[in-house]
Amino acid sequence: MPFTKYMKTLREKGLKVTQQRLEILKFLDENRTHPTLDEVYNYMIKKFPSISKMTVYNVIDSMTVNGIINSVRFVNSTELRVDYDRDVHFHFLCKKCGMIYDVAGDFDVAKEMKSTGHKVDDYKVNIYGVCKKCLKKK
Ligand SMILES: [Zn+2]
Ligand SMILES: [Zn+2]
Repeated sequence: MPFTKYMKTLREKGLKVTQQRLEILKFLDENRTHPTLDEVYNYMIKKFPSISKMTVYNVIDSMTVNGIINSVRFVNSTELRVDYDRDVHFHFLCKKCGMIYDVAGDFDVAKEMKSTGHKVDDYKVNIYGVCKKCLKKK
């Protein structure tokens, strides 16, 4: 059963297992390129011909809020990018080609924040620049 691990994730987070959630999780797991909402929608419409973009957005949103997936929004971009990887990592956005690279986060923000008395649940770091592929093209 290819969906078993996604079912487990949904149940662990207390979300109802639906075919739409399972399909989106499978798509994101197999496409670790931080797909846009449009890309997820284009995949979903093949499986669910009557699905609306709003529904796809809502499914993504509910899974983001419940900590199952990660949604990323970059400054200067209204475009939502969806990330299957929930582990703490940073994103490097190439301003030339728009490619998003995962960068390992090697400092513990939660630990740093402890002295402030605030409790950190989550944090996002976005790094901007030009990727090595684009630099080579010059
Ligand atoms: Zn680039
Ligand atoms: Zn990522």
